[in-house]
Amino acid sequence: MGMFIRVDLDPKVAAQADLAKKLAEVCPVNIFEQSADGGARVVPENEDECVLCELCVQAAPPRGVRVVKLYDEGSSLERLE
Ligand code: SF4
Repeated sequence: MGMFIRVDLDPKVAAQADLAKKLAEVCPVNIFEQSADGGARVVPENEDECVLCELCVQAAPPRGVRVVKLYDEGSSLERLE
């Protein structure tokens, strides 16, 4: 986990290979990677590189990805619908 940012990935989203590929493609700082089994995982050592672009939030279905700003009392970027 990063010191400043934590990225939460819904397990249902993480399990979908097409979404995993999309997340790995859109994040400019490689916070998501596609595992050998096709699913997505967050790369903890990259979390603090997040530039808050929201591309992952928009690429995933609602509530699929949440970017938590640990430095800002846990406020977050997420899409509820
Ligand atoms: S907000 Fe942007 S930089 Fe941060 S995890 Fe999502 S895609 Fe990557």
